[in-house]
Amino acid sequence: MSALNEKIKKVQAAKRVVVKVGTSTLTYPNGSLNIRRIETLVKVLSDIKNSGKEVVLVTSGAIGVGAAHLGLKERPRDIGGKQAAAAVGQCELMYIYDKQFAEYGHVTGQVLLTRDVIEDEKRKTNVINTINQLLVYGAVPIVNENDTVSVEEIEFGDNDTLSAVVAVLSGAGALIILTDIDGMYSSDPRTNDDAVLIPLVEEFDDTLRKAASGAGSAYGTGGMVTKLHAAEIAAEAGIPAVIMNGRNPLRLYDLFDGKPVGTLFCK
Ligand code: GLU
Repeated sequence: MSALNEKIKKVQAAKRVVVKVGTSTLTYPNGSLNIRRIETLVKVLSDIKNSGKEVVLVTSGAIGVGAAHLGLKERPRDIGGKQAAAAVGQCELMYIYDKQFAEYGHVTGQVLLTRDVIEDEKRKTNVINTINQLLVYGAVPIVNENDTVSVEEIEFGDNDTLSAVVAVLSGAGALIILTDIDGMYSSDPRTNDDAVLIPLVEEFDDTLRKAASGAGSAYGTGGMVTKLHAAEIAAEAGIPAVIMNGRNPLRLYDLFDGKPVGTLFCK
């Protein structure tokens, strides 16, 4: 059996799965919710949950969706504007997730985090307990950064890192990062015709980091740099991570059927 097939089996076998979805997957370029995609994503996640897995969803989109909902021409750049937009967008996100998961008989719970919470042992333990208890209750924890109170000193800054931290805290068996590109490429495929998709990463070296950070490689929100960093945090903790395109959430079925999808990071 090839190394890739063997490692995909680890993802397949994961009982607890953290799925991270980015703003570019959830929304149209104008910031409004891509309802069809969210509906498909929630349907697939509900089915994966029905198959016996526990699902934790880490979602972005609060600021972008809030800005669109408020009718702002662009995403605010100042802290007050971002925090206000997030307050609006987080409500809209949870409303639609809760409604959609309810369609399939599942309950959601909102968990909002900032970095300072995770850095304090007692508060960190409380977060772990809350996520565990939600899963014991059979609910789907939906996690985002607490953007409404978050400022530079206490923020994760990007949800890729947040999703890896959540995967580690919740003792997940796999981390799946849904984005707007098929996976990790040898260089930026948007500017380089020779770029090839890397199916399996077992070592995190400088060549890989360079491939993620090359000029013009700012794919999607957070870019490939933060995604690679998140995959590394997870893989170092023994959690296989997958970066894959979120355009068609049905491909999550392929992944759990043991087919190679996107890039798998596994040590
Ligand atoms: N927490 C931010 C939001 O919900 C997203 C951060 C990110 O996309 O990495 O808008």
